[in-house]
Amino acid sequence: MENRTAKVGITGKYGTRYGQKLRKQVKAIEILQRMKSICPFCGKTSIRREAVGIWKCRACRRSIAGGAFEFITTAATTAKTTINRLKKNLELTKMKEDFESDEEDIKEEKKEKKISKKDNRKDKGKDKKDNKKDNKKGNKKK
Ligand SMILES: [Zn+2]
Repeated sequence: MENRTAKVGITGKYGTRYGQKLRKQVKAIEILQRMKSICPFCGKTSIRREAVGIWKCRACRRSIAGGAFEFITTAATTAKTTINRLKKNLELTKMKEDFESDEEDIKEEKKEKKISKKDNRKDKGKDKKDNKKDNKKGNKKK
């Protein structure tokens, strides 16, 4: 039963119709759309095409959106990778911002300490600080 058809393969059903080029193009697509793919949920190679863009796993009965003729298209993989990259970047920037804000807090604490030292030397500074404190309290009351 080996090599029943030397060239045409799955497109033998079209006989001599439609021209050789079209039959060749259709062959590649029809082989792709009949291939089983690996299920991302259960890991079995049991995903089959149900309709255009709809793929169903026969093991876990999940239906998944995919390409028209293949489950995972190159465009889909590039889109996924870019989305993941941007997500990572966003997380990194958030982490950096948190870290920087922490650093700023430490700096402010140091500044306050310095100011308090100065205040001990000068009595005028104390009054200013008291005013600031009063302002903060007033804000809180509002
Ligand atoms: Zn599955």
